[in-house]
Amino acid sequence: MSNVLVFTETNDGKVKPVTLEILGKLAGKADVAVMGDLAADQVELLAKYGAQAVHKLKGANLDKYSPEGYSNALSAFIKSKSYDYVFAGATSTGKDLIPRLAAVFGAGCASDCTNFTMDGGTFAGTRPLFAGKCLAKVELTGPKPHFVTVRPNALGMPQTPTAGAGAAADVAADAGQIRAAIKEIIKAASAKVDLTEANIIISGGRAMKNAENFKVLNEMADVIGATVGASRAAVDSGFAAHSMQVGQTGKTVSPSLYIACGISGAIQHLAGMRTSKVIVAINTDPDAPIFTKADYGIVGDLFTIVPIMTQEFKKLLGK
Ligand SMILES: Cc1cc2nc3c(=O)[nH]c(=O)nc-3n(C[C@H](O)[C@H](O)[C@H](O)COP(=O)(O)OP(=O)(O)OC[C@H]3O[C@@H](n4cnc5c(N)ncnc54)[C@H](O)[C@@H]3O)c2cc1C
Repeated sequence: MSNVLVFTETNDGKVKPVTLEILGKLAGKADVAVMGDLAADQVELLAKYGAQAVHKLKGANLDKYSPEGYSNALSAFIKSKSYDYVFAGATSTGKDLIPRLAAVFGAGCASDCTNFTMDGGTFAGTRPLFAGKCLAKVELTGPKPHFVTVRPNALGMPQTPTAGAGAAADVAADAGQIRAAIKEIIKAASAKVDLTEANIIISGGRAMKNAENFKVLNEMADVIGATVGASRAAVDSGFAAHSMQVGQTGKTVSPSLYIACGISGAIQHLAGMRTSKVIVAINTDPDAPIFTKADYGIVGDLFTIVPIMTQEFKKLLGK
């Protein structure tokens, strides 16, 4: 039996869904740590998905993420509880924090896992390599704790989660000496779900031709509750913000549905979205590489197809 901690991030006071995915997989055998306070309804949610204890780490300079502050506070807490495994989402923060913690402990780290098991309390995971061209089975050896980050949306939400006790407690934490601190976080204008957590994504490529044309994608996104993404060609051409870029040098996404509009399917784009559950491609070129990865392909002009789909979705959804 292993002693397991899941580090959760919050967004506007709400725990990130990837935490619930990880907890579901751990089936009621993990504690949760969060920086700062957490509302009672969020503690209840964590308990419903299997958190045994919810540790709220509180102290000066922990209100905003800082690599040193979070790592100092968390490493002391992890030591105090002798955790064997520490899990977190492979989010921007998780990708920064967890390898840093692994280095502090001189321990192994399995990054960006898309699946894992804990048979007999021992971790075995799957993680994509070489831009997703192959999947590696990984195990962690050497001194504990072992560290794992999990790609958001990859595990999926547990249908029947095993509940945990959800005992919440404050923990006095020390950020220590911080040499680089975040002064301000400027939120993106869009109120939509972040790409990495979105369940449905509709992305536009170079074929969008300009920024204004993205409105056809935005209209469909509003109807089906999607987040809009883009290829690097669209971003480099100034049609879309870099925060929207999907791919090797953009964001890695794993939605239930990914709709690629006027995107050729270059390996660097596929690297960021090939673990999507269902891929739909709309492209005028029947030989576009994206069709080799698509579950459903539509050969045609996106400016004709997307508005038709939007109208059909409106009818179907009664909007
Ligand atoms: C180191 C490195 C990192 C990179 N990182 C990324 C990354 O993170 N993300 C990324 O996306 N790319 C990345 N790239 C770039 C990548 O190689 C491709 O150049 C890029 O993905 C192409 O974008 P695209 O598919 O939008 O454009 P194109 O390859 O030009 O494809 C446009 C497609 O639109 C189709 N089309 C044209 N008109 C229409 C229409 N009216 N309706 C429907 N279809 C139409 C065309 O048939 C074509 O298939 C990277 C490259 C390198 C070298």
